[in-house]
Amino acid sequence: MTEVTDLDVVVVGAGFGGIGLGVELLRVGITRFLILEKASELGGVWRDNTYPGCACDVPSHLYSFSFAPYTDSTIRYPDRRDIQEYLRSTAIKCGLQRHLRLNTPVTAASFGEDGRWLVTTSTGDRYTAGSLVWTVGQLHRPHIPALAGRELFQGRAFHSARWDHTVSITGRNIAVIGTGSSAAQMVPHLARDAAKVTVFQRTPAWVLPKPARRFGPVARWVLEHIPAMHAIYRKAIYYGADLVLSPVMTAGWTAHPARWVARAHLRLSVPDPQLRARLTPRYRIGEKRIVLDNDFYRALCRPNVELVTEPITELTSSGLRCADSRLHPADVIVFATGFRASEFLAPIEVRGRDGVLLSQQWAKGASAFYGLAVPGFPSMWMLAGPNSFSASGSNPTIKEFQARYVVRGIQQSMRLGAAIEVSPSAMHSYQQWMDDAMAGTIWPTGVDSWYKTASGKVTNPWPATNRAFDRMTKHHPATDFEPVTAADTSCTGAA
Ligand code: NAP
Repeated sequence: MTEVTDLDVVVVGAGFGGIGLGVELLRVGITRFLILEKASELGGVWRDNTYPGCACDVPSHLYSFSFAPYTDSTIRYPDRRDIQEYLRSTAIKCGLQRHLRLNTPVTAASFGEDGRWLVTTSTGDRYTAGSLVWTVGQLHRPHIPALAGRELFQGRAFHSARWDHTVSITGRNIAVIGTGSSAAQMVPHLARDAAKVTVFQRTPAWVLPKPARRFGPVARWVLEHIPAMHAIYRKAIYYGADLVLSPVMTAGWTAHPARWVARAHLRLSVPDPQLRARLTPRYRIGEKRIVLDNDFYRALCRPNVELVTEPITELTSSGLRCADSRLHPADVIVFATGFRASEFLAPIEVRGRDGVLLSQQWAKGASAFYGLAVPGFPSMWMLAGPNSFSASGSNPTIKEFQARYVVRGIQQSMRLGAAIEVSPSAMHSYQQWMDDAMAGTIWPTGVDSWYKTASGKVTNPWPATNRAFDRMTKHHPATDFEPVTAADTSCTGAA
């Protein structure tokens, strides 16, 4: 049995959340912590997603930490390499490298009678800590649909987030299943080299256009030469997105102009009325995550791209068969079919007080206090936990708000010398607020999406503005959390 490493804090995951949390810990002087990362590199989704055209549809000035602006202010929308490099250099600059343990997949965590967490990894390493923070994100476990005949297909098949770079695209027949953000970004790039790209659409996405990837010379000069410009521009897009895009989730006033702009974008990009009709969504804008893209529609008009809207019934040795019996030949199938987003923390086995399994507590759908704490799981924290995904703004910003709160909670627990847990009354009032706020959004009655569980519980998005999240998590955790006594933990391990 290997030795147990004793720490103040264990952080799991080295994407935006883990890096942001680590920086905040160092800022307040907490140094006895490690960030355990399953992969051989940091970066989270920006490490995992390497499909052609992978980029971010949120401007770089906002899709970044407030304390670490991009050094290249000319990039308006970063591609995945820019973001990966940004995270790597931020980790180095902020002194996080010695806190990183790569190739260390966490398999289990349990809260012990001593009021501390024991974290187990598949490498056999074990860690104990007073506080445990999950920063594993929501969109990292690929969803691959169970299509009949999957094993018969003789070509190459892989998920968009597991791109197989040994497979050549040039001159080949590529099938892309799905029309979400990942598919929209890759199809224009695949279409340039492939003989044919067949795109299988189940539900059309709402697509909004966005400004060009790079700034023009004037904007560039301003951003490069006027020091306050970065901060001003960041604030402008933060408030702009929050004011304009947030009301869309409640079918508020801006849902109308957003719909008009999306329809106009479709009309201007797709001249063929029949193709346009098949690309027109029949649900309210915002029920699924809106796609922000300028090239997808135009790519679908290319002679070597075909949009298929008949449901796929099976895979055969040479392609995909649809409900109209037509067989679409394919050399390569790309599953741009999204992620198992509502299964937070799976497949890690997490046990809280009294040995309660988190997966059992969440069997009817995950919930957490501001997406960051769960009753029965003292001093266990999360960034990007349930209902804290910003559908209208920047998720690194939400994670920064959460990191601020979580680190204050960790300090509180260290001061008290005890684990702390969200009080029943705080959780109750939060849940009531959440239920009311969620009922006011279009999601509970909307179409299926990764925002919800299969049974329809909305578990992923935050149902209010980013400004509300900031305001509501500014108070000190001492207001809502109470220490866990030895009597509370004496039954631990019962399960
Ligand atoms: P997604 O939005 O969940 O889209 C998955 C697509 O696959 C949908 O079109 C879905 O159709 C389709 N699909 C799933 N199962 C299917 C089946 N059995 N048969 C046919 N089609 C099927 O996944 P994603 O595109 O990977 O994006 C996930 C999230 O990642 C995004 O919403 C976004 O938040 C994030 N992302 C962000 C960026 C960025 O630039 N910031 C880029 C890429 C991704 P239905 O709609 O009918 O279910």
